[in-house]
Amino acid sequence: MELDTCAPSTTSTGAHTPSLPPLAPLHPFTVTALPGKGLALLATSFIPTGTHLFSESPLLLLTSSSSHALPQSTRVLAGFSLLPPAPRAALLALCSNLPLIPVPTDESTALAVWKANNFCLDSEGTVNGVFALAARLNHACVGGENCRWVWVADGEGEGKGEDGGEGEGEAERGQIQFWTDRDIAVGEELTHCYRPDWRMGTVNRRAALSEEYGFDCGCTTCEEPEVDD
Ligand SMILES: [Zn+2]
Repeated sequence: MELDTCAPSTTSTGAHTPSLPPLAPLHPFTVTALPGKGLALLATSFIPTGTHLFSESPLLLLTSSSSHALPQSTRVLAGFSLLPPAPRAALLALCSNLPLIPVPTDESTALAVWKANNFCLDSEGTVNGVFALAARLNHACVGGENCRWVWVADGEGEGKGEDGGEGEGEAERGQIQFWTDRDIAVGEELTHCYRPDWRMGTVNRRAALSEEYGFDCGCTTCEEPEVDD
């Protein structure tokens, strides 16, 4: 559903592709609407730790090199304008979680969806993408999440980060892969942490999540007693 997650430690920037277990033969989860949370992924069977849940290619992927002076919104709209009908419709169907725009257009919706759902796929913040299914995974703060992900660029391993050999402005291709980080019970929601690097007290973290993504986090971590401020 949302995001703007920046680079969890699980991101594979140029490292090896982790050896993931084989894909679950049938998705052991369903996409369901939850009250107050929009769509969510719920386990339909017990899912053991380390299960490779799914992999998917981005609906829209942007890379930026240092020579790019254009603001991200301009590049988002440029990429959006080139999308074929199916990914365009899939992107527009995602949740924006932002204040309603009086007269939304496809372009303003696309920008809102991008802001709320894009994954920062590398540690440098130069590769960002929006994914149809991954966007439906809701957030839980560190300690409360149960899934992790990795971005595997085509050409693996050395697609970027070596010495600038990334082909100036060309969107690289790849897939985001999700797997379970612990055992998940039937009916449990699949979650991941949008901002693993947020090291702030619960009050500040929840306020930041509310401001950036438009929801009040009620994850198990947030319900624990406050340790610091
Ligand atoms: Zn939380």
